[in-house]
Amino acid sequence: MFDLPSDRKLPTRQGVTLPLSYPGILKNLEIIHTFSAQTNLTPGYTAQMMKVCKTHGQTKHLLRPGGFLRCGKCASVWVIRHRQKKKQRLVETFGGKCSVCGYKKYIGALDFHHKNPKTKGFSLSVRGLSYSWDTVLNEAAKCILVCENCHSEIEAGITKV
Ligand SMILES: [Zn+2]
Ligand SMILES: [Zn+2]
Repeated sequence: MFDLPSDRKLPTRQGVTLPLSYPGILKNLEIIHTFSAQTNLTPGYTAQMMKVCKTHGQTKHLLRPGGFLRCGKCASVWVIRHRQKKKQRLVETFGGKCSVCGYKKYIGALDFHHKNPKTKGFSLSVRGLSYSWDTVLNEAAKCILVCENCHSEIEAGITKV
């Protein structure tokens, strides 16, 4: 099968590298190798390849643990939806509305404001929502749920909480 120098490393999704001796990667390499005959897989860059997705057509597919290939576009759509759902669940858990004025029309305009900046671990914005549910829940517990208007007023010192 594949003939690679033993010191070669593969990039993973997080950008760190795993040694080729990692068993999961070896399995993936075999799969890539079978596909690479009919596709335009760039030599030396085995972590992704072009393949047809039922939804998105010809797209970059990424190597996933367990040796399957995932459409890159499907993966980003999933990440966005997953974060939206997590925010939805989080907002519902914390009352579903601005704790100052009661606003609840649009979830995108609701923020988590840290009551004490000293206890702030991370912001519960898009990036923060990528943490596990427990981590996110724990962080949200240090916050109050407010709408964007009330949030600005709090930051400006006009509204005290
Ligand atoms: Zn797709
Ligand atoms: Zn408000």
